[in-house]
Amino acid sequence: QDSENDTIYHSELFTLTKKMARGTPTKMSFNIPIFEPHPPQYYIRAVSDSWLHAESIFTVSFHNLTLPQTQITHTELLDLKPLPLSALGNKAYEDLYRFTHFNPIQTQAFHVLYHTETNVLLGAPTGSGKTISAELAMLHLFNTQPDMKVVYIAPLKAIVRERMNDWRHRLVTQLGKKMVEMTGDFTPDMVALLSADIIISTPEKWDGISRSWHSRSYVMKVGLMILDEIHLLGADRGPILEVIVSRMRYISSQTERSIRFVGLSTALANARDLADWLGVRDDGLFNFKPSVRPVPLEVHIQGYPGKFYCPRMNSMNKPAYAAICTHSPDKPVLIFVSSRRQTRLTALDLIQLAASDEKPTQFLSMADNSLDMILSQVTDSNLRHTLQFGIGLHHAGLNDRDRSLVEELFSNNKIQVLVCTSTLAWGVNLPAHLVIIKGTEYYDGKTKRYVDYVITDILQMMGRAGRPQYDQHGKAVILVHEPKKSFYKKFLYEPFPVESNLREHLHDHINAEIVSSTIGNKEEAIIYLTWTYLYRRLVVNPSYYGLEDTETYTLNAYLSRLVETTLEDLEDSGCIKVDDHSVQSLILGKIASQYYLSYLTVSMFGSNIGPNTSLEAFVHILSAAAEFDELPVRHNEDTLNRTLCKKVPYSVDQHHLDDPHVKANLLFQAHFSRAELPISDYITDLKSILDQSIRIIQAMIDVCANSGWLSSALTCMHLLQMIIQGLWFERDSSLLMLPSMNDNLLDHLKGRGVSTVLSLLDRSREELHKLLQPFSAAELYQDLQHFPRLDVKVKLQNEDKEQSKPQMLNIRMQIKNTRRSPRVFSSKFPKAKQEAWWLVLGNITSSELYGLKRISFADRVLNTRMELPPMLNMQEAKLIVVSDCYLGFDQEVSLGHLAKV
Ligand code: ADP
Ligand code: MN
Repeated sequence: QDSENDTIYHSELFTLTKKMARGTPTKMSFNIPIFEPHPPQYYIRAVSDSWLHAESIFTVSFHNLTLPQTQITHTELLDLKPLPLSALGNKAYEDLYRFTHFNPIQTQAFHVLYHTETNVLLGAPTGSGKTISAELAMLHLFNTQPDMKVVYIAPLKAIVRERMNDWRHRLVTQLGKKMVEMTGDFTPDMVALLSADIIISTPEKWDGISRSWHSRSYVMKVGLMILDEIHLLGADRGPILEVIVSRMRYISSQTERSIRFVGLSTALANARDLADWLGVRDDGLFNFKPSVRPVPLEVHIQGYPGKFYCPRMNSMNKPAYAAICTHSPDKPVLIFVSSRRQTRLTALDLIQLAASDEKPTQFLSMADNSLDMILSQVTDSNLRHTLQFGIGLHHAGLNDRDRSLVEELFSNNKIQVLVCTSTLAWGVNLPAHLVIIKGTEYYDGKTKRYVDYVITDILQMMGRAGRPQYDQHGKAVILVHEPKKSFYKKFLYEPFPVESNLREHLHDHINAEIVSSTIGNKEEAIIYLTWTYLYRRLVVNPSYYGLEDTETYTLNAYLSRLVETTLEDLEDSGCIKVDDHSVQSLILGKIASQYYLSYLTVSMFGSNIGPNTSLEAFVHILSAAAEFDELPVRHNEDTLNRTLCKKVPYSVDQHHLDDPHVKANLLFQAHFSRAELPISDYITDLKSILDQSIRIIQAMIDVCANSGWLSSALTCMHLLQMIIQGLWFERDSSLLMLPSMNDNLLDHLKGRGVSTVLSLLDRSREELHKLLQPFSAAELYQDLQHFPRLDVKVKLQNEDKEQSKPQMLNIRMQIKNTRRSPRVFSSKFPKAKQEAWWLVLGNITSSELYGLKRISFADRVLNTRMELPPMLNMQEAKLIVVSDCYLGFDQEVSLGHLAKV
């Protein structure tokens, strides 16, 4: 390295301290500066600190390196007079805002946003009021095309939630607009979607829905699409964002109806590429410098030595305390740390430091009697403890109530200091005067090492410093590992270019487009790629994407190779069929697209599910789904998993107790066994896997049904019932679905020959009372009112007609009891869900499945029909009605009596 120029990274010295097992690679990443003109090569040398001659050299050649242009074009912030709210020219709109004037950034973009149809890309630092800029575009649409819809896409659920809360108060209540949320937690029904003016969605949900835009009219009714935090295009879930924008642009070109795009982002290094892709012209492009924040930010970066993470984090507590005393002795302080454990450790240390400080510390003295009342409502004991000393904790491990309690205390100035994990930076808008970022790394359970936050996360956390309308300045103190200090000094002010992540995630998206027939052959797949952001960046930063040069020939060869390997993988996985000239989706591919699953998951189904797969095997298959790859396995959780192994019936791979899929397996089994979970993180983790498991199991059922496997299909259905009720099929009494059930009562009922909920449903209150004596029947009776009493009748249609048409089975289903709602009744499933039923047409003797239908009741009566296969042996055929949520509710209806004698 050229030591003179090397001001930035040279001091980095790496030591591999991790125990390296033989044959397992250890991954390290570091940044190196590159100078003009490019050096021919760099050397990386690894030297052992204990063995002689144990060293190795690796040469990094820069021979073919092409770097993107570094010139950044920023928009000058003009010295305009801030526009007053009256510029909106509409009293109702003015009333939406509590301030009097638009800020300088909003003022500069006002005309384009509010008076034109132009696509806009607005790059401006966090805290610039971009949400309100986007609202200007919404108000324009309300003015000009009130029948068209706004779709607002936010890449994080926390942001969606914040938007919902804010807009519900203003746009819904004040303007009378209809709004729906579309996230993992909510799926609005068709009526709500059709009538909505505003749809707030995560990228995944919009992706899932817009895949079949041909048949969904509301997708074509979108007039404005707002993409918040669009710089996250380069992050984990960026590819989905990339795909939905590309698709909406494509839809717009196909329907010849223009969709307006408004992208919001932090300041961008490569705004022009992003703008081109979004269809933004020069007049719609605003890319302000990071320094134009309405509340200016004073940033201090402090380096700390210390090779090991935990001691280093410890050594940062004192400086954090000092920073509070210096920069914000009596104003709100947010401290970002990397883990739940760290929130507690940091808070405890701060309390210690404050207690031994001679000067009184604000946060300690704020903790007075007025908090007592609130403390008694707090569930989390760590939180209760630190609150007594005026410090709040905030992380995803807290329950909703605790979390909103702390948020309230902090925003009402009842506590001064809040120690939180990075999730708080996104979404919940709790600005503070001082933000301290304690450490810039977090533990990544998947790769089992500490990795750096991406710069955008740091920017987002810093962005919480400075409260508009209160502070003249915001302050941020960033405590980093010493060798990284210069890196952060440079890059916090110099935005990174946003690169595409799509190449690594192409399979599922190509598969979905094949299913929807947008892609029917290789050429169309290449055309599809030209709509993407990846395509724009390829020619600008070829080295990043492994493209040798940007000649047309090389580029075409690259794209065509990319398409070919992707199609080959999809073909190998059983999702598609590739001929010379065309590609076609197969059933597995369709299932993957419909249930929004990875092609790897359905492929794994394809090779592991058979006609008579056991329940145990299905639990393993479910746990092996690629959707659980990201389930966090934290430090030392392998030990917890080992203990959990002993509490569950099916054994798991003892050698991989730190594998997310093994953990998922244990969590599922613990859920069925209603076993106590060791820590609260496991409760959160279980919640998330239960939630995902529904669509995975539904896909498994479809796989079974398509192969005609009756036994496996029924086992899967029972698995879903187990998920909903937290019980084992057949091992546990279905009576345990009743929350008021206990062991004594269970024994009592067994003694009277009652073993299912279904058999209790037919009894009147008096009968029940008699049956239960000496126990009270009141609670049980209440519980029972939630369960459906389903009556099923079948009849053949067209009995005497000619044989050529397929025979139809008419099915009439009726719920006999009156109930409050068709919501699933379960004390063990964390989310609200509608009841549904499967109608399975099959032959139990031969274990063949002829037909499957899934239905749910809107009214109490439902008439439906199913086609009977030709040459059906009526004597053996049965219609099996299976609940998707209640154990022991299966009904079998023989068709034998329908056969002509
Ligand atoms: P960004 O999305 O750019 O990070 P937000 O839209 O979240 O910023 O706004 C940050 C804060 O600034 C919000 O609390 C918002 O209410 C406030 N704000 C926005 N515009 C104005 C304004 N013109 N005057 C005063 N406060 C404003
Ligand atoms: Mn924002």
